This record gives sequence, C-alpha cells and structure tokens, in this order.
Amino acid sequence: MAEEKKEEQKPSISFIEQFISDDLKEGKNDGRIHTRFPPEPNGYLHIGHAKAICLDFGMAQKYGGKCNLRFDDTNPIKEDVEYVDSIKEDIHWLGFDWEEREYYASDYFGKLFDFAVDLIKRGLAYVDDQPADIISSQKGTPSQPGMESPFRSRPVKENLNLFFRMNEGEFEEGSRVLRAKVDMISPNMHMRDPIIYRIIKTPHHRTENKWMVYPMYDFAHGQSDYFEGITHSLCTLEFEVHRPLYDWFIDQLKTGDYRPRQIEFNRLNLTYTMMSKRKLLELVQEGKVNGWDDPRMPTLCGLRRRGYTPESIRRFVDLIGYTKVEAINDVSLLEHAIREDLNMRAPRVFGVLNPLKVIIRNYPEGQIEEVELINNPEDESQGKRMVPFSREVYIEQDDFMENPPNKFFRLAPGMEVRLKGAYIIKCEGFKKNEKTGAIEEVYCTYDPDTRSGGKTSEKKVKGTLHWVSAEHAVDAEVRLYDRLFNHEDPAGQKEDDYRKLLNPGSLKVLTGCKVEPSLAEAKPLDKFQFQRLGYFCVDYDSKHDKLIFNRTVGLKDTWAKVNK
Ligand code: ATP
Ligand code: MG
Repeated sequence: MAEEKKEEQKPSISFIEQFISDDLKEGKNDGRIHTRFPPEPNGYLHIGHAKAICLDFGMAQKYGGKCNLRFDDTNPIKEDVEYVDSIKEDIHWLGFDWEEREYYASDYFGKLFDFAVDLIKRGLAYVDDQPADIISSQKGTPSQPGMESPFRSRPVKENLNLFFRMNEGEFEEGSRVLRAKVDMISPNMHMRDPIIYRIIKTPHHRTENKWMVYPMYDFAHGQSDYFEGITHSLCTLEFEVHRPLYDWFIDQLKTGDYRPRQIEFNRLNLTYTMMSKRKLLELVQEGKVNGWDDPRMPTLCGLRRRGYTPESIRRFVDLIGYTKVEAINDVSLLEHAIREDLNMRAPRVFGVLNPLKVIIRNYPEGQIEEVELINNPEDESQGKRMVPFSREVYIEQDDFMENPPNKFFRLAPGMEVRLKGAYIIKCEGFKKNEKTGAIEEVYCTYDPDTRSGGKTSEKKVKGTLHWVSAEHAVDAEVRLYDRLFNHEDPAGQKEDDYRKLLNPGSLKVLTGCKVEPSLAEAKPLDKFQFQRLGYFCVDYDSKHDKLIFNRTVGLKDTWAKVNK
C-alpha cells in the first residue's frame, strides 16, 4: 500500500496532459486552455489540495492558458471568510496566481436560479414535499430501480409557484426541495432525480439574506465551469460518477458546441496522515492540535510553519504524478522532498538540544577565538561565518558516555574527538550527580596544534561533534515534531478510531537549548540545518530574546529504520 509509485515509473507526461495536448492539436475550443481550482471555503487547504492546485495552475501555465480561482460556496452553513482569505494566501504561497479571476459559485446564484426555473418550465424539475429520508429511501439501490415521488408529475404552474415561495422564506428548512426530473431507473444513482435546490435560512457570507434556497454542489459545479468557459475541468476520481449528471445539466443549458471536459485523477492520500477537512476541523476544535497551522497538520499553513518550502511541495507533487487509481503515498517521500530542498538552501549552524557542559582545562581563561565555518557545503555562495570558541562549550548529552560500547566515536573518558571547526579535545574526567547518576560536567584538555585549517591539523580522530561556546550561546526553545498519527492509515479506520491512533510523541518541547550567537537575529520562517540533527525553522512565536525553532525533519528517515 505504501509508496504507490516511484519516480522512474512516472510517464514523461500525465494522461491528463496527453488529453489536453490532444485537444489542442485537434483545435478544440479555438485553442483555448482554461482551467480552475474550485475549493469549498469550509476549511484550510491541505497537501492534497496542493496536488490539485499544481495541476490546475500548472497545466494553464504550461499551455499558455488561464486558471480561475473559484470558491464553491454553495453551503452557507459551513463556509466562512476566514477560509477564503487563508485559501488565497496559501495558493499564492505555493507560487500560483489567478490574476483578476477570483470567482464564486455565489456569483452565479441568479443564473442558476433562472436555470432551475427554466427546467421547471420545461417539465424537467419539480418541487418534492417529502422529507429527505423518504426521498432517499425511494432512490433504490444500484441493482434496484428507484420509486417515483408522488410529486413527480406536479403541474408546472404549481412547481413554479412553490419554488418562488420556497425562496421567499415561506417554508421551513427541509420541508421541500427542488428535484431534477431525470431518470428514476438509471443505473447511475446520481441520475435518479437528484435534489438540486434546498431551503437554507442561514445568511450567506457573500449574498447575506438574498436567497432562501441554495443550489446543491452538483447543480452548481458543472454549470459554473460552463459559465466561466472552462475547457478542462480537472477533479478527483470520486466525481467520475457525477459526470453523466453534469453532462445532463450542460445538455439542457448549452447553446453551441462548447462544453467543459471533465477529467478525473486520483486523490492524494498519505501514510500517517489524515486529509479529511471535517476530521481536521475536529482535531482543531477538540484541541488535539494547536490550530489549523499546527506544524503537525497536513495543511499548507501547517507545513509552512513546520518549515516546508513551496518548492519542496511542488517537487513532491511532481514525483507522485497523476493516475486513475486510488492509493496511499508514503509520507517519507514528502519528507525526502523537503530534505533535498533544504540541503541546498539551509545554512548549517550549531545548535545543542540537550546541553552538557565541557570545560577545557588547559584553554586560557578569558580567551576567545573566532573560528571560521562554511555556511553550506552545497552552495558556496552562502559564504562563511565566524563562530566564537572559548574554554567552556556545550555539547549534546548523548555525545558523551561514561562507559561507551565499541565503535562509540564520540566523547568518553580517555577518548579524543574534534570539535567541528575548532580543536581536538581529550576527555580527562567528569562530574556525576551521585543521586541521579546524571553527568553534570565533562573535563577535557585540548591540543593547541590541532586547530582546523591550521598547519598542524593533520592529526585524525574518528568523531566530530557540534558545540556552542557557553559564554556566547543563545538560549532557545526547540519543538520536536513527529508524525501526528502512529498508524499508517488513520483515515481508513472506523469513524471514531482515528483519535486513538494519535501519536502521543508527536510534539516534544525542549527548553534551555543552546544555539550559536549568529542565530540571535533569526526571523520567523528562517530555515537552518542544525548540524548532525536535522532541519529547523524559526516559529512565528519566536522573539529576539526568546528564540523558538520547529524541527521540520531529521537528517535521515528514522521511521524507515523503525519499521524494519
Ligand atoms: P470536501 O469534502 O469538503 O468537499 P474536498 O477535499 O473535496 O473536501 P474541496 O474544497 O471541495 O475539498 O476541494 C477543492 C479541490 O481540491 C477539488 O477539485 C478536489 O477534487 C481537490 N482535492 C481535494 N482533496 C484532494 C486530495 N486529497 N488530492 C487531490 N485533490 C484534492
Ligand atoms: Mg469537495
């Protein structure tokens, strides 16, 4: 189930692109390419949406076309401007732009209402007075035909009268609906007289109290594409079975040859991740995470705060490609994409997460040397920086062991290591807390002839440690994030179960971490590689005097090891 496909299996262009380029060759739509990204403003965008965005905007870009942003805001109960704003911000962040073409399904409420009236007049729609549960029980099953509603042959005049009165607010919510008169015995359940309008009295975030009836998504989506002149309507596979109904509506509506072409592709699912907006909202509302932009969330704002770059997300989408089969992609592929990107981008720095003080006894008290370090061996243009070295430094607690096993090439009594960029030190002793057994200080000597880059630095040792000068260190809080779920397929479990699959270790907060002084001025979203540890990004809550770093990803895939 994991890792649906590998890079080398990816066809050079997707089947979707093939369709588009064929349509262009055939001269369809006068050579126009026009796509749209149609989010419902009822939640924040997630990495799955990124897959759709990259395709919708990407195809338009590649073929000299246009891509609209259209908010599918047909349900006033769940929608909010907060979501509209965040969606726009996230699409821009990903690197795409809809120019002036920001549309809303609600822009077409008038046209859709008129179209519904037209259908009624042509005997193709009727008002049904039955409650929703009765209507759905009459729908039958895929192997059994549906039953006609007793209101199906209501006279046109009566239908018109009732529909207008529904919109005037005369009837209660749920007491009546408008249905399209299509085919109660169609093998496609969506064709069995679908509901196309319902009464909702909650004000709409844009049209406020103008309407009391609202079109169903299925009655708005395809027609909105048509109104906007969309040539290729790209959507996820679950809409494949809706296509005949969309076509039916367009057949009733269109005046010429033009119709949008719907092409479906597989949804993005990721291991250890849940993508349902409804469940993500529950996690937020129940306080299981700290908001939509919690760095453990698969939302674009969460990934951004975690330290993901737009480039890494676009690269990931490129790697997985588009197919016609539902599958689950391995989240480690996403992690791989950000590691690769940050490897090129992120300057290397020293940060010590669990500090242990090392005192270099033969180093002159009060002496400070500036040692030169390369910012990024992958990118010379990032230059070098000077880092202060002094008699007392911090190293990681687990870089010292009192009784090391074989092949522990770090610090232990009698052993030598290099402090990266500085000197080779040798451990001569340590102080241990008798009660707790904790190592409190380590005592070393240094060899003055071993300064890195110096003439006599040929002496070799196996281990090299990162360090921070105690006197110059800046305190920091570090938030270690891990996968939010510890089950590979949390979304595939029973409704309520996913809460039990939350990884209790998905967030560890470390305080009193020590980072090198060059980080004192780091700004939110600045990205670094803490050497030997991983990639870290400055959090929004970080202040000059209270630095906070989020771990984006470790240097290696530790989960791969665990699973083996
Ligand atoms: P809802 O259940 O609320 O409809 P949705 O995930 O379908 O949720 P939309 O806002 O309707 O959300 O999605 C906007 C567009 O993004 C749609 O075209 C949809 O097909 C696409 N999309 C949503 N989720 C994914 C996903 N996981 N992978 C790829 N595309 C997705
Ligand atoms: Mg949807």
